[in-house]
Amino acid sequence: MRLLIFDIDGTITHLDGATRRAYWRAFRELFGTDPVVDGLSMHGRTDPLIFRECFTRTGLSGDWREKYQSFKPLYLEALPESIKNTERTFLHVGVKDLIEQLAEKPTEFALALGTGNMEAGARVKIGYFGLNAFFPVGGFGDEHEERHLILQDSMDSSVRFYGREFRPEHTWVIGDTEHDVHGAQKLGLRTLAVATGGKYSVEMLAETGADEVREDLSATADLIELFRS
Ligand SMILES: [Mg+2]
Repeated sequence: MRLLIFDIDGTITHLDGATRRAYWRAFRELFGTDPVVDGLSMHGRTDPLIFRECFTRTGLSGDWREKYQSFKPLYLEALPESIKNTERTFLHVGVKDLIEQLAEKPTEFALALGTGNMEAGARVKIGYFGLNAFFPVGGFGDEHEERHLILQDSMDSSVRFYGREFRPEHTWVIGDTEHDVHGAQKLGLRTLAVATGGKYSVEMLAETGADEVREDLSATADLIELFRS
């Protein structure tokens, strides 16, 4: 049996800046100022890491982890409205078909999330597209800044939920950035990198040493064969 761990932003969904706008609104509400970002990239970053970077660059004092706990409910309140008010939101090409077809083969494939989003935020995002039921478990950015720890959480919760072990060589991480690939590589997992996130091209992703790189996830039958390999 194969375990397939999906990233969300840029891999499953395109939210056209809705995350960032909710993030900024919550940050302003909590601190009364816009975060200083100085070119900080959010692509493939975990929520706590983005928060810590914003917190530090803005020159705020105190325990950022404590403030992150205060930030979370504000962000979660802002997120659904931000998504709803964003015109160009969509699932990336092929994603829905792929997920549905994998879910039709429950003896072959187990699905999980592996995302830097805090869990409640992740649920809002894929819930907007009706996909929560496909992903009963996952690893999230509630505690960990580092992606391989999130992926480890995803594997551990999958073992508990599906009631069986998954071999690393039978576990695929599907993501759109070098961070997904490198996190998976640290755990000896297989990687499918997809260039739908807008920041990393096929060529850039190939340089990460991903096992497979695709323009998008539209070749459903072919991808299912790949996961079986
Ligand atoms: Mg991503």
